Amino acid sequence: MRTKDPFAKRSLGQNFLIDPKVIVRILDSFRSKEGDVVLEIGPGRGALTEKLVESGAQIYALEFDRDLAPLLQTRFGNNKNFTLVEGDALKLDLASLERGGRKLRLIANLPYNISTAILQRLFSSVEILEDCVLMFQREVVERLTANPGTSERGYLTVLIEAHFSIEWLFDVPPSAFRPAPKVWSSVVRLIPKIRAVENEELFRLVVGRGFAQKRKTILNNLKLWYPNAGNLLQTIGIDPIRRAETLSLDEWISVVDILAPRA
Ligand code: SAM
Repeated sequence: MRTKDPFAKRSLGQNFLIDPKVIVRILDSFRSKEGDVVLEIGPGRGALTEKLVESGAQIYALEFDRDLAPLLQTRFGNNKNFTLVEGDALKLDLASLERGGRKLRLIANLPYNISTAILQRLFSSVEILEDCVLMFQREVVERLTANPGTSERGYLTVLIEAHFSIEWLFDVPPSAFRPAPKVWSSVVRLIPKIRAVENEELFRLVVGRGFAQKRKTILNNLKLWYPNAGNLLQTIGIDPIRRAETLSLDEWISVVDILAPRA
């Protein structure tokens, strides 16, 4: 049956792209070319890798599945611009890839089970990244792009806004994959921002605390750590009874600034 694949490992989020139109659309959105240094996370059976290698860019293909590695090596290994990296996207230090002074371009149909964990690792690599074209579950993209005041907005939305401009490119139906996932997917482009956030660790800490319990007001979340939070929020014009999901990125930056000396 078209939608099943006895060899795909669910534990590794293996939903392989089989729809040539979708493959072309993703590659057209990315447009790799000679001179680029590209990292593909999870090349799988090479659905995207083939054209990436043909583009003449320097390709690093990072695959965790030891059963797929030899297949990839056999298929692409004789291309000078192809390097297979056998490893874990949750562990690899992106800065360790030899780039000859260039920035890294990232492309991936991400393994869904760890897609947001991989995304969070990118926050500390914005300086070395040029751009990314990534596929997530559509529900994740809805969260990543949620505007202030919408219930999908959360910690990850604010973090992504602080580090990247995000563009929702297009949606992909389950039928484009084998095995077919239960849900739709979406492809996004991320462009790193020039640092909006001064102290990364502190920013994550305060925003994380602000969202600790989404149904509570920002005051009730923050006062556990900052007893004077109510007054401090008022001094920067933020009503303490608002919920965390209503705050814009700029407002979060002000919140972090005012609470920073107390963190
Ligand atoms: N790019 C291929 C495609 O579009 O058909 C495969 C995409 S599949 C959704 C995700 C791929 O990520 C699989 O090849 C899987 O083995 C790989 N993968 C899963 N966990 C990984 C990890 N921690 N690090 C690197 N690759 C991983």
